[in-house]
Amino acid sequence: MTNDQKAMLDALDHYLQNKLPTSEIRRRDANHITPYNILPDLGQLGILGLVAPEKWNGLNQDWLTLSLIQERAAQHAYFVGSIINRVVGFGLMTLLNNGTQAQQSIWIPKLIRGDGVISLALTEPSAGSDAGALITRATPQGDGWYINGRKTWISDADGSLALLVPARTDPESKGHRGIGMFIVPRNTPGIAMTQLPKIGNNAMPSWDISFDDVWVSRDSLLGELHQGFKVLGSTLHYSRASLAATCTGCAQSIIDMTIAHIKERHQFGHPLADFQVVRHRIADMQMRVDQSRLTVRHLAWLISTQQDCRREASQAKVIATETLQDLASQSMQLFASYGYSSESDIQRIWRDSRLYTFGEGANEVHRDLIAKQLGL
Ligand SMILES: Cc1cc2nc3c(=O)[nH]c(=O)nc-3n(C[C@H](O)[C@H](O)[C@H](O)COP(=O)(O)OP(=O)(O)OC[C@H]3O[C@@H](n4cnc5c(N)ncnc54)[C@H](O)[C@@H]3O)c2cc1C
Repeated sequence: MTNDQKAMLDALDHYLQNKLPTSEIRRRDANHITPYNILPDLGQLGILGLVAPEKWNGLNQDWLTLSLIQERAAQHAYFVGSIINRVVGFGLMTLLNNGTQAQQSIWIPKLIRGDGVISLALTEPSAGSDAGALITRATPQGDGWYINGRKTWISDADGSLALLVPARTDPESKGHRGIGMFIVPRNTPGIAMTQLPKIGNNAMPSWDISFDDVWVSRDSLLGELHQGFKVLGSTLHYSRASLAATCTGCAQSIIDMTIAHIKERHQFGHPLADFQVVRHRIADMQMRVDQSRLTVRHLAWLISTQQDCRREASQAKVIATETLQDLASQSMQLFASYGYSSESDIQRIWRDSRLYTFGEGANEVHRDLIAKQLGL
């Protein structure tokens, strides 16, 4: 790590230890409190504009530095790494790579300042893994478009600044073709939202959205007409890298909390940490996290050096999410009744981590993508 990277991590540690002590993380989970109010602070720390060019008051740093930051943030609290992903991995990178000068001027300063998130509204009731089956449509009218349809399970949608909405712009098209990507301000008339109840990730509310004659101007189209999946494809590796870094940091936090517990908890006249089977389990867990970390850092290096990384992005997503989910389960076994208490920290991570192996693309679909990259 460079001195600048160490200084940023120290500043982040200091901020999170003061702002989000363990009691506050538990309170936010129990009361479903979003982290939107810490975004301006993350903006002040330079994190949200870390990889943005100087012309946007960004720090023009590489992806590896952001990856280190996200890993550390999630070691403290998963939802901090996760919200950085939604601001930077989805919102900022989509606009930097596809936005017109006018679109960038409206949205990028807000994202970097920490005014809020931009939600990706891709999933529909009948289009999950098969995203190309989406049926939300955009019909041209005058100087803009009318959007009609429904999206579901959209994270942070209600509290967002805007939604990225892929919609069918060619009514005759099928699959990934003939879809446009629109950036739709949250408060546009015709948008209605209902919150979905769920078992975890309480700091990240999920919303079902209906679009009923939602009019957007021509300037709302991101990228080229009918090329919405190209817009999506241009940024997916960023959000996968972010998710993988976040899962890795969270997995390390599991080991830290489990070691503290097994040193303290005594059975049969010994701390649990004295039993070889327990020690070996921890050693295996740490090896898994280190493998995940190396995969994430390799991906971050590929991104930083602008190399093709489609396969490595899927690999990092699969490895990091399965590592986290498996470690949460193993740690629960070692915490036993203490972990099963709804007041424990491991139960929160155990519930949260169940999402990541199917969210952002089911791991089965990622394995297919990896096989495809191998020429199969
Ligand atoms: C808490 C939460 C937050 C979310 N946030 C967002 C968001 O912000 N924006 C957004 O657009 N979406 C979001 N989603 C939706 C998420 O991306 C989808 O859940 C995911 O794409 C999987 O789609 P699905 O749930 O419809 O599962 P399905 O597509 O029904 O798949 C179910 C299972 O079938 C198997 N499967 C499916 N296809 C294949 C295949 N080709 N080969 C092998 N096995 C397969 C897999 O095991 C998969 O897990 C969120 C979901 C949740 C639960």
